[in-house]
Amino acid sequence: MKRLLSTETLTVAAIFAGVAAGVWLPETMLAFKWMGDLFLMLLKMLIIPLVFASVFVAIVSLGSGEALKNLGLKAFGYYFLTTALAVTTGLLVVNLIDPSTSHTLVADHALKPPPEQTFASLLLSFVPANLFAALTQGKIVQILVFVIFFAVATLQLEATKRQSLQNFFEALNDAMAIIAGWVIKLTPLGVFSLIGYVVAKEGLQTLWDLKSYVLAVLLALLLHATLVLPALAAFLGRFNPFDYFRQVREAVLIAFSTASSSATLPVSIEVASQKGGVRKESAGFILPLGATVNMDGTALYEAIAVMFIANSYGVALGFGQQIAIFLTATFASVGAAGIPGAGLVMMTMILSAVGLPLEAIGLIAAVDRVLDMFRTAINVWGDLLAAKVLNRFLR
Ligand code: ASP
Repeated sequence: MKRLLSTETLTVAAIFAGVAAGVWLPETMLAFKWMGDLFLMLLKMLIIPLVFASVFVAIVSLGSGEALKNLGLKAFGYYFLTTALAVTTGLLVVNLIDPSTSHTLVADHALKPPPEQTFASLLLSFVPANLFAALTQGKIVQILVFVIFFAVATLQLEATKRQSLQNFFEALNDAMAIIAGWVIKLTPLGVFSLIGYVVAKEGLQTLWDLKSYVLAVLLALLLHATLVLPALAAFLGRFNPFDYFRQVREAVLIAFSTASSSATLPVSIEVASQKGGVRKESAGFILPLGATVNMDGTALYEAIAVMFIANSYGVALGFGQQIAIFLTATFASVGAAGIPGAGLVMMTMILSAVGLPLEAIGLIAAVDRVLDMFRTAINVWGDLLAAKVLNRFLR
């Protein structure tokens, strides 16, 4: 009975209940949106102090800039490998399924294209000119950049000074983890409301209208999440990825319902270290980093979406252009923020790389929220696996 009423089981039930309520009681679910919003706000409330403290503590406990460089390089190597595999899976599946639609649909979903992203603007956006602005605006990547500088500098302080900073941030980190534990108890209610709202608002019909595209994205995500990533993790990390999934699935479910890797972060750190057997230093460093730079689901989706758009416009993209897609999709997934819809904005970069009109985004916008839920779940699952794999290499 206790097992049946565990937060994990209730959360799974809440997903189904949310879909059902969204279909049959849309008015009620629209009215109960505040419940999901409240859950999201409580999660978001934790992100900044938690990212700051956990990354700081993780780096300082690594003990030296050398150890950090070591772990950092491995992390980036692993992220790059999995992202490249994700885009490849996406391209393989989309070439097989070859989804398309009539592009007159664009008119129905006319959407002002978001401003184009360039490499230079992306690079500059990583650096905080003003730390407090970054903190108040929740710019996670900028905060990460600052904390990394701050922690590495702290490593060079004399022992007593370093210790006092470390004590302070460890205490902050532990207190945030306790709040995260409380918020996690609300997951079933939050998830029920978030999912019910999306279904009530978006309806399921649009999914059907673009079924070949939706199918290609879902199939590729499924392959990546259940075959590619687990095989790699088992090989490199020497653990059973499916047992690990059972331990940390709560974070994946929250990622699915919130469509935000960042909002899921407090929960991923908590479950990976409390239940998944990942050391605090690994979870505290790898997960915040992964939540912003390692997005397998997003990378894969970008590749499929641009191929789908090209097909619908009757533009054939050959091998050379698919290489361009490979590179830009990888880069776009690194640049995408861990918030709902970020992947759609980054599409502009890829569309312009292959010379497609930016308005074409209108074609896929209608189903974006639902696909966002799935790709975010895979983003977070990829991060959780990365933390466990890299944990093995932490001395
Ligand atoms: N929503 C995704 C995330 O937070 C990013 C995206 O839109 O692809 O991970």
